[in-house]
Formats: sequence, C-alpha cells, structure tokens
Amino acid sequence: MTAPMLPVRNPRSGEVDHHIPEASDVDIAEASTALRQAQAHWLALGVEGRTACLNTFADALASELGPLAEALAVDTGRTTFAQFEAAKSIELIRMWAEKSGPILDALSASGASGQVPSVHFEHRLIPYQVVAVISPWNVPLLLAMIDSLAALSAGCAVLLKPSEVTPRFIGPLQRALNRVPELAAAFCIVTGGPPTGKAMIEAADAVCFTGSVRTGRQVAQQAAACFIPAFLELGGKDPAIVLPDADIPLAVRAIVRSAIGMTGQACQSLERIYCHESIANAFAAKLLEQLGALTLTSTDQGQGDIAPLIFAKQVDTIQAQVDDALSKGADCLLGGQPVHAGGIWYPPTLLTGVNHDMLIMQEETFGPVIPVVTFSDVEQAIALANDSQFGLSAAVFSADRGTAMAVAERLQVGAISINDASLTGVVNDVEKNSFKLSGMGGSRMGPAGLTRFLRKRALLIQTGEPVPVQLFSDTAQESQT
Ligand code: NAD
Repeated sequence: MTAPMLPVRNPRSGEVDHHIPEASDVDIAEASTALRQAQAHWLALGVEGRTACLNTFADALASELGPLAEALAVDTGRTTFAQFEAAKSIELIRMWAEKSGPILDALSASGASGQVPSVHFEHRLIPYQVVAVISPWNVPLLLAMIDSLAALSAGCAVLLKPSEVTPRFIGPLQRALNRVPELAAAFCIVTGGPPTGKAMIEAADAVCFTGSVRTGRQVAQQAAACFIPAFLELGGKDPAIVLPDADIPLAVRAIVRSAIGMTGQACQSLERIYCHESIANAFAAKLLEQLGALTLTSTDQGQGDIAPLIFAKQVDTIQAQVDDALSKGADCLLGGQPVHAGGIWYPPTLLTGVNHDMLIMQEETFGPVIPVVTFSDVEQAIALANDSQFGLSAAVFSADRGTAMAVAERLQVGAISINDASLTGVVNDVEKNSFKLSGMGGSRMGPAGLTRFLRKRALLIQTGEPVPVQLFSDTAQESQT
C-alpha cells in the first residue's frame, strides 16, 4: 500500500510545492525493531568508533552544505540564517564527536562504598536503546539534530521525525547519512505529522520533544502511560528588563535582533520588554529608529531583513494578540497588520501602553511584535517578568554587572542573558533547564545533554563476609541487652 502524502507549503510563494509520505504505525514499529538491533552494534563500537562515525558524518554533511542550506532556505524563507543553521549543525556534530569521550570518562566511577567499606562498586552506563526525537518547524535542522546527536553520542539509536511543515532538508541530510552506514543503521529519519509522532512514542524507550506546550502536554501524558521519560522543550514568553543605567543603543540592538531577527519565530525570542520610565522615551525612539529601518524580504530570495512566516496559521495567533491589545487600549507605533504577497509577512510591530490583562503579555506570540511596559521600581519589573506561565529565558540590561546579576537571580527562568539576548540560541555547551510550562527533564545543553540518556547500573562486589541473618534477629538483640 502506498503511504498517504502530506502537502508542504512554500512560505515565500504560499504554494504547496512539495509532498512527504506519512509513516504509519507499522512503519514506525518496524523502524523501531530495526533500530533496537542496530543499537547493540552502535554501542559496541565504543566511544572511539562512534566518534569516528560522527566525524565522517560531519565531513559528508559538509559536502552537502549547499543543498542543505538551500533546502532550509526554501522551507523557512530565510537565506542567510539557513546557511548559518546548516553550518552550525556540522559544528554541533564535531562538538559531540570531541566531547562525548571526556564526558563519558568523567562519569565512570568505581571505588568503595563510604557506608559499607567492604563493598566495592563499579558503574556501567546503560543508554536507552531507542530515543524518539520529535522536532518543530522554526529552526528545523538544528532542533532535530541537537537531541539526536547527543543521544547517538551516548550510544542510543535515534528515531527522528522533523516537523512536517519544514521537511525538505531531510533529503541532503539522509544522503550524507547514507555515506556512514554504521551511523545510518542507528539513526532513522521518518516523515509524518502528529499520528506518526504518537506512534513513535509507543515504539521508543525515551522521547525528546521540542514544540508547543499544547502538544508537549499530550506527549508527556502518552510517555507517562508508556512509562518512558519525556524530555520536553516547549514555548516561551521571554522578558527583558532594561534598567535605568542601561546602554540604550546596546539594549535596543540586542532586543531587536532577538525579538525580530527570526521573524519572532524562536522559543527564546524576547516577547515582553520592561523599560525603566527614566529612559523610556529615548529607548522607544531608538527602537522605532531601528525597527523602521528593517525591510521585509520579498518573494525573491536574498533581499530584505524580515523573512515570511513559516507556518501560515501563525498569522492568526499574532493578529489576535495584537487586536486584543489594541482593543484594550494599547498603542501601535509601528506595524500591526500582515502583508500578503503569496507568502505572509508580518512587519516589525511596536506596541506601547500594554499591560498583563492583554494576551500579548500572557501568551506566546511567535511573531515579530515588541510590547513595551514602563516601570518605576525594579521590584515591579521583577514581579511583572515573573508573572508568566512560561520560564524559558530572559534578558537584563544594566551598566552595572552586579545590579544586573542581582535582578537575574530573581527571575524564574532557566537562562538569563546579561547585556545581550537569547544567548542560549548560540551557546549550546552550557547546561540550563526550562522552568514552568517551558519544559521538563534534564538540560539538553552541555554535558547533561548527553548524560540524560544514560542510566547507571551499579555492580556491587562484597569483599568481606556477607552479614548473617542473625544480625537482625530479635533473639540476638535480647541476648545483648
Ligand atoms: P508543535 O507542537 O505543533 O509540533 C512539534 C512537533 O510535534 C511536530 O513534529 C509535530 O508533527 C509533532 N506532533 C504534533 N502533535 C503530536 C502528538 N500528539 N504526538 C507526537 N508528536 C506530535 O510545535 P511547532 O508549532 O512545530 O513549533 C513551535 C513551538 O515550538 C513553539 O511553541 C516554540 O516555542 C516551541 N519551541 C521550543 C523550543 C525550546 O527549546 N524550548 C525550541 C523551538 C521551538
């Protein structure tokens, strides 16, 4: 039977110009069985063998750099970022190839128990056999690779399903993978939508999910029913606090890049700005100046600053939030309406006069909208920044590092950039967790990115005499008293 085909829309033209097959439950069950067998061989290669495979994979992918970047550019409507994303993925493969050995060595432990010194122990690290990786559309390749590479480096086999919205990069990725047969056997890439994702959870020993809170809840519930761990990286509503002594041009540059640079389509985009009233006018003027200078990309690749929305329905979410804010008294200083030109573009949008009764300050926007609130007291700014169901990351701007750090320590989020924004987008080697609804499970960054896929088995060797049953005998107790 031929697989049903899913349509893929081109975000620049708005046309469906590609299709992918939807993997069925049976396809997934078969893939999982094959991966389970391949994992034993992948693990037996040892860290040196796996590292060699990863390095060969990096070389193979480097030779596909052009097609890979082009596929990403078509999927996302972003040309320059697509090149960065492709190159960064190769860098990530090399990073894991280099770091997995030392990370695994640092975990190996043996010695004597402090409690019972006659007992010696040795640890064995046991990876999950099959890890399902389910990824979103906003940074399609990197977010598919970030979990997959760490799990593979730990010795797991990986069943990956990239988002059905942006799947074109799978072609060049698979071509590179085919040139490393031992890795290809342990790393299976499938296509499909939600039903395929659900089937993967049934067939896996652990699941890594990056996506919306709504889907994340479903994944967590299904994983709980299957009794497997779920590592969830979900949405955000990142705040920035701009303190009175902040360097305004620096703060604006970082905020504009973070909030607008990816058309706002990044989990760690800044989506709420709290600016001290003493600098509010200068800050707003600088923001307007920088935002006003940005242009939309056109249907011709390679022109302009702001790429189209990748996922057409996102425009409804963005517009509903902007309209809700305007209906409740906010002012729109720039933007505020989409541009339909085949694809859908949303211009940089600046809102003032906003408050926390508005959706724009409560729900993830995932679009290029900057709502600004002024505050008079830093306590008020901290309370507002923490008044959110999300806890992904944040930014604090101040000329005084100590002041910024003191504010940062009080924010209920997993990472805070100081005098910059969204640094977790480029710093992958520092551990962090996601707080509140933004996620669950061990850090995907830094060494924990790998170690979260390992269970420790302890071998406990008694070098003395096993204690006799009489140790706990009541008769023995009485005779001693
Ligand atoms: P989504 O939740 O709609 O889909 C993500 C993936 O899950 C897709 O591959 C989809 O096919 C699959 N899926 C959908 N329903 C499923 C189900 N019931 N079971 C299993 N799989 C299922 O998310 P999206 O719209 O693709 O991505 C945008 C969201 O991702 C935003 O909320 C963004 O904040 C979040 N995100 C988070 C991070 C992070 O690191 N925290 C990074 C990037 C994106």
